[in-house]
Amino acid sequence: METILEAERKIPVKGYWDVIVVGGGTAGAIAGIAAAREGMKTLIVESHGFLGGSATASLVTPLMSNHVDGKPLNTGIGLEVMERLSQSGDCGKLHHNLGIFNWEMLKFTLEELYLEAGGELLYHSHFSAPLMAEKSIQGIIVETKSGRLALKGKVIIDATGDGDVAFKAGAPVESGDEFGINQAMSLRFSVGNIDLEKFADFLEELEGYRQSLPFFHASHVNGNRQALTPYFEKAYQDGVLEETDGDYFQIFGVPGRPGELSFNCPRISSKTDATNVDHLTNAQIEGRQRIKRLLNFLRKYLPGFENSYLVTVAGMVGVRESRRVRGEYYLTEDDYIEARKFPDGIAKNRYPIDIHSTKKGGGVNFHSNLAPNEYQEIPYRALVPLEIDNLLVSGRCISASFVAESSIRIQQNCHALGQAAGVAAALSIKEGLTVRELDGVKVRQTLIERGANL
Ligand SMILES: Cc1cc2nc3c(=O)[nH]c(=O)nc-3n(C[C@H](O)[C@H](O)[C@H](O)COP(=O)(O)OP(=O)(O)OC[C@H]3O[C@@H](n4cnc5c(N)ncnc54)[C@H](O)[C@@H]3O)c2cc1C
Repeated sequence: METILEAERKIPVKGYWDVIVVGGGTAGAIAGIAAAREGMKTLIVESHGFLGGSATASLVTPLMSNHVDGKPLNTGIGLEVMERLSQSGDCGKLHHNLGIFNWEMLKFTLEELYLEAGGELLYHSHFSAPLMAEKSIQGIIVETKSGRLALKGKVIIDATGDGDVAFKAGAPVESGDEFGINQAMSLRFSVGNIDLEKFADFLEELEGYRQSLPFFHASHVNGNRQALTPYFEKAYQDGVLEETDGDYFQIFGVPGRPGELSFNCPRISSKTDATNVDHLTNAQIEGRQRIKRLLNFLRKYLPGFENSYLVTVAGMVGVRESRRVRGEYYLTEDDYIEARKFPDGIAKNRYPIDIHSTKKGGGVNFHSNLAPNEYQEIPYRALVPLEIDNLLVSGRCISASFVAESSIRIQQNCHALGQAAGVAAALSIKEGLTVRELDGVKVRQTLIERGANL
């Protein structure tokens, strides 16, 4: 590719913070709340005009279950957020976890909790470069409507999902499986004005049990014979759907939004590198084309959808896996299989290995060997990137193999990882240590004091 040389220029320094969280998503919003509650002058920098990331911008609901003996494995701030949301009827129970939520109201709750904690926000600001002093990150540069701005911080938390900060700072990263192929993306959408009673009658006839809100669920995956499979096959024959439209199709109810269902599809399997702008552009275009066909299918073939309309398409394509930042500990599939625990364990996970294949009709590799009461732990060291100082990583881009990430990536774990990063950043500043020098056992103890189930 042809290159040009950018001219040198002066950039205004907008301010100084103790903790700067880059990306106010699933992990980042919680990291911000945690750091601000520890008394840190905290800033969240976010590309969108709201918090929540995948949970709000990509419409990812519900929280997948992560519990043992009927008790949630991830408590702390993540649970508090869901409890606050349930007060307005915008969050319901899925199995033993409070977890089916109204994404629009989640934006309000996260922002309220963060501002109540004293945190500061910079929306519509895109991280573009780290400010480095050799191997130490001193702040970041963001692109905004006000131009390019420098923001200085003592500890930076990379919660971009894609490890943008760590990568540009020079930390080692990896992405994809052994062939470099990432998991499939999905462009989620929601449909309103559905006659849910009629749709529930239809499903009851097919499945023999009655669906009701909040956990309203239906699915079809090519290659598996499910209740909806004959309807998909008919639509393929009729030319209403392309066969790949049924590679993964899933519906969930949404509390607080009567007559509306949320769709965990269509799946985008052709170009899946979320750090490639051409792939991201393709995902939105291909996704919308598929959604148009799926809408037609819903209205023609599924009772209850006759008068439905498209409510929203996610502004941010859902990314299951991209860069993973190599850290002081590298989580592997064996850690999951062996249900390993660590003295510096900062989150508990028993969600299965869950890999969305990019192959045609490839379905999902979804399995777990864990005994009903077993879980693994995620050590603090998986949040500490190799080589770069003053930087923590949180969310799905922590130090984990492709397979390990497919299990730990669910939102409740990201909440716990966010809280751990926020608390660790504060502890390191209070103790005058780098995040690498900080004792992870102390992070664990502090998290327990703050309500984490560890
Ligand atoms: C299609 C799909 C379905 C899923 N289904 C479920 C499910 O049912 N249940 C479940 O629990 N989990 C599910 N997951 C997994 C889970 O939602 C994600 O793994 C998790 O939300 C990721 O959290 P995160 O904090 O790492 O990233 P995100 O929540 O994506 O947050 C990243 C944030 O960083 C911001 N950002 C990125 N780059 C920059 C930049 N350069 N500058 C400024 N800001 C930036 C983004 O705008 C975003 O707000 C699903 C994921 C996908 C994609």
